[in-house]
Amino acid sequence: MDDLKQRLEAKLELLLRRGNAIEGHLRHEDGRNELDWADRASLTENDEVLEALEDSTRADVGAIRAALERLKEGTYDECMDCGETIPKRRLEALPFATQCVDCAA
Ligand SMILES: [Zn+2]
Repeated sequence: MDDLKQRLEAKLELLLRRGNAIEGHLRHEDGRNELDWADRASLTENDEVLEALEDSTRADVGAIRAALERLKEGTYDECMDCGETIPKRRLEALPFATQCVDCAA
């Protein structure tokens, strides 16, 4: 499971970096005050896209942190609902799965 932990940590790192970059854009640290009105209007639309991306990035960060916590506690492959072991194949496809196939259905 060490390999998995590394994969999760690498992914977490990536997402945190992406989150910071998005935040920087949203805080208008890209010099948009220099832009004219039309440019600003299109960037506002862009903000909505960025905000949606920020939300999903934050959700992914939460899921990875939870998975790392479960890994640490040794409950990573335990179904949260029924306590059965989640098959490795399922975890490889869905690294943040917290339920077995039956409970997730
Ligand atoms: Zn289950």
